[in-house]
Amino acid sequence: MKLRKNPLPNNAGDIACFLLIGLGVPTIVIWDLFIVLPAVYEPGSFMYNFTFVFSLFLLFNLVSNMLFCILVDTSYDPKILEPPQPGSGDRENWHHCESCNCLAPPRAWHCKTCGICILKRDHHCIFTGCCVGHKNHRYFMLYVGYLVIGSFYALAYNLYYLFVIRADIYTQTFYHFHMFTMPILLLRGYAVFMPAIFLMLNLVAVSISACIFLVHFNLVRRSAVFADKDRSKFDLGLYRNLQSTFGTRVNLVWISPFIKSPLPDDGFHWPESGDQRLKEIS
Ligand SMILES: [Zn+2]
Ligand SMILES: [Zn+2]
Repeated sequence: MKLRKNPLPNNAGDIACFLLIGLGVPTIVIWDLFIVLPAVYEPGSFMYNFTFVFSLFLLFNLVSNMLFCILVDTSYDPKILEPPQPGSGDRENWHHCESCNCLAPPRAWHCKTCGICILKRDHHCIFTGCCVGHKNHRYFMLYVGYLVIGSFYALAYNLYYLFVIRADIYTQTFYHFHMFTMPILLLRGYAVFMPAIFLMLNLVAVSISACIFLVHFNLVRRSAVFADKDRSKFDLGLYRNLQSTFGTRVNLVWISPFIKSPLPDDGFHWPESGDQRLKEIS
């Protein structure tokens, strides 16, 4: 596995979004594990221990998939594979990249932010500061997937904490929610204000991550990416499409990004729907 040489975000927007996740996730996790959880379950009880361990599993997969997404190099290096000779192979599907001044393989597109061509480029992710493409698509999808599960899980506990355990403060306040609700809570002190802020952040995290995941999963299930003009061209059936993104061990990748799952495609040649080569590959 080849790693990126400069994995840090390289513009102000990417740095800001990266910090939002980098600071927001740990803050919510500390709040939920050390304030909310002991208030919901007796420390040392089965449910307390189970929830604590399950939360650590979600956090591990969220962080490690994010790091793999950032670190894995999915760019096209002309030194590794030269274009096919004129008149042979997929040559007619290769295109010239003016920025790199080289022929780039099918489905590889240039990213102005990263300054390089990306294999099966999907999009430039502002929350990781890198492009999502052929080799890190799996990690991106699981990173967002665990963000969705983790934020829904946290939301369930936050709602229970605010509207059951501390119902005396929040039930009436949020029942009559209006534009001055949050300032009124702030006037009652940080101990009252901060739980409401965490709930708001949690709602934002659930909404954004769920939308991103649904949009991208809808593309992945058809083996499509944002950059493809013809989004059904590479649709080889659901299971093969999932393997194209998650690798041949698609049923195991949710356990950890450290589980090896080789990709069936090399990133340079792409079988199309009804292609004869598909029969040879499968
Ligand atoms: Zn390029
Ligand atoms: Zn990029």
